[in-house]
Amino acid sequence: MSIPDISRAKSAELYEKAKTYFPGGVNSPVRAFKSVYGTPLFIDKGDGSHIWDADGNEFIDFCCSWGPLILGHNHPAVRNKVIEVMQKGMSFGAPTALENELAELILGNNKYIKKIRFVSSGTEAVMSAIRLARGYTKRDKILKFEGCYHGHTDALLVKAGSGLVTFGETSSAGIPKAFADETIVVALNDKDAVLKAFEDFKDQIAVVIIEPIPANNGLLLQTQDYLDFLRETCTQNGTMLLFDEVISGFRVGFEGAAAYYNIQPDIITYGKIIGGGLPVGAYGASAEVMDHISPVGSVYQAGTLSGNPVAMAAGIAQLSELLQPGFYEQLHAKTADFVKAIEAFVAERGYELRVFTIGSIFWFAFTDRESISTADDIDPASMLKFKVMHRELINRGIYLGPSGYEVGFISSAHTIADLETTKTAIFDSLDIVFN
Ligand code: PLP
Repeated sequence: MSIPDISRAKSAELYEKAKTYFPGGVNSPVRAFKSVYGTPLFIDKGDGSHIWDADGNEFIDFCCSWGPLILGHNHPAVRNKVIEVMQKGMSFGAPTALENELAELILGNNKYIKKIRFVSSGTEAVMSAIRLARGYTKRDKILKFEGCYHGHTDALLVKAGSGLVTFGETSSAGIPKAFADETIVVALNDKDAVLKAFEDFKDQIAVVIIEPIPANNGLLLQTQDYLDFLRETCTQNGTMLLFDEVISGFRVGFEGAAAYYNIQPDIITYGKIIGGGLPVGAYGASAEVMDHISPVGSVYQAGTLSGNPVAMAAGIAQLSELLQPGFYEQLHAKTADFVKAIEAFVAERGYELRVFTIGSIFWFAFTDRESISTADDIDPASMLKFKVMHRELINRGIYLGPSGYEVGFISSAHTIADLETTKTAIFDSLDIVFN
């Protein structure tokens, strides 16, 4: 049964004000709630698995700041470390021991990269990694996949045109066509398209960039075979393989998708999860490749706030927790049980919904397809069902990211009781969506 809408009076008031300050009232577009019902919720505070909005409504949060909060909100270990470090100043623009400490934590526990460079966002990590790949190979073209998001850098804000292998069409105003002409876009899970691209642009492709676990346009899980094929094809063609692990890194395991699929990429980008909620990104590779970066190499890349001590402190605290024995096993088991229960409910009711999942990531797809591995497999009309589900869940105190193309995240702070409450809310919401 439908229940009354929660009050959003205070959020609505803040949103009206925000619209006079920021384009669309937000500082990042998806926050504007354009694909779901109602005014965006302005969040006041978070603790553990819960958040509270400006009207005092309480939610169990599955957005988790779009992934980085794998320990939940305001985790005491992260908070205390940040406060401790902040007492000594917040930025020096000079090296600190904290950068070494975080690098040791990462490099000592991740055999897929030997040197790392910290930056301040995922976009910056990807942009720098692409420059590195171009500088290293002395080639200009890059190949990306439709349905993978890599931040808002010009070369990657492109979408496929029609046809097997296309140059990207810019997906934003303000990007010179000449930039998009250097980006080849092909469908995921399509070997022929990749082979054709390498045939058409022999010795011109610097790098193939992929989210090995594509999680920005639904959860478009790829097969081991396909990712192995990409590795082999890149090697045969002298092209670098870049795994963009801004979502999957430290999420599906400490060593991310590289370890999950046992594939050695040439460069890996990481993002927000390193900062535990503070702005951090990173890219890493072999020492030989990384030494092409300035000041030792000729590929320039810099950042005033790169390796910022407060962000490093958050990273040290967060990643130390992830290295505790059994951390990922517990998180994944909890997620698998949650997903299984929803699948069982859906099967019993005969509802057209699949829950795709990996590690502690899940995605609701309103479909009867056994698998969804390309952007084209998603029926845009199914998003209307998500829209209804989102409203019903918000009204029942469950916060999912405000778009049906976004995945959900479970953190170590989500308790079994939280997940029980959530399941009940999901079951009730689905009864409304489908009836
Ligand atoms: N790459 C991937 C795979 C991402 O998911 C994102 C953001 O979600 C980015 C890059 C860009 O990161 P940021 O938003 O920190 O710039």
